[in-house]
Amino acid sequence: MGKPTGFLDYKRQENEAIEPLSRITNFNEFHPFLDEETRRKQGARCMNCGVPFCQSAIKLKNMVTGCPLHNLIPEWNDEIYNGNDKRALSRLLKTNPFPEFTGRVCPALCEKACLNGLDQDPVTIKENELYTIETAYTNNWMKAFIPSVRSDKKVAIIGSGPAGLALAHDLNRRGHAVTVFEKEDRIGGLLMYGIPNMKLEKKVIQRRLDILTEEGIVFKTNVNVGKDITKKELEKEYDAIIFATGSKKARDLNVKNRDCTGIYDLLRYSEIVWI
Ligand code: SF4
Repeated sequence: MGKPTGFLDYKRQENEAIEPLSRITNFNEFHPFLDEETRRKQGARCMNCGVPFCQSAIKLKNMVTGCPLHNLIPEWNDEIYNGNDKRALSRLLKTNPFPEFTGRVCPALCEKACLNGLDQDPVTIKENELYTIETAYTNNWMKAFIPSVRSDKKVAIIGSGPAGLALAHDLNRRGHAVTVFEKEDRIGGLLMYGIPNMKLEKKVIQRRLDILTEEGIVFKTNVNVGKDITKKELEKEYDAIIFATGSKKARDLNVKNRDCTGIYDLLRYSEIVWI
């Protein structure tokens, strides 16, 4: 814990939102970051309460709630407070391959589990995470990691959404030759086609894809596995095949007036928008 009294000294302060009348002129992100000093104080609010990985011990559907990635949150909050942004980054990347995505669109289960939230406001964990990764990009610390040894094993991943990309990231780092197949014309799945720019701008996704490509991952777009390439062909060429296609099945809402016109589930809506 960087500052033992941080949670008493400083109030929670979130990134502010740009005024609605200004932000309706475009579809860009609208939460400019806090200045550095204020961000460091937000890191100081973490009291390292001893609950590992910010888990709450409350179970939902038999799973403990809190950060599903088991991020080392108290460790990087401490590094943020002490001005060690590079060390914060190294701790963050131990458990999270893409903090620039989770720092923007994760529902922040960590904050629901934060003990500070019991009698005041939780730590701004999600925004601290985003600060750490964006500081890394700004300072050019995010470099391609090219494995020095290759395994001679080839892996095909079907689907390039967050699950497919995380798999590709990890398997490539272990030295396997990874090819990702995507049936759409762009990589990213729901990151690219399901999340609007104001939450996750396309250039943020592309910035990461450029690194993954440099690391050696091969991306093949406009390939509908099962139609453009058969299962037999894949089996012949690859040692392992992973399905990371997502369900593509929307969960409907059982509410009054659900049948009104103009109400779409997101999956159908994104198809309409992109057609
Ligand atoms: S915002 Fe980050 S630390 Fe919090 S639950 Fe999501 S991934 Fe974990």
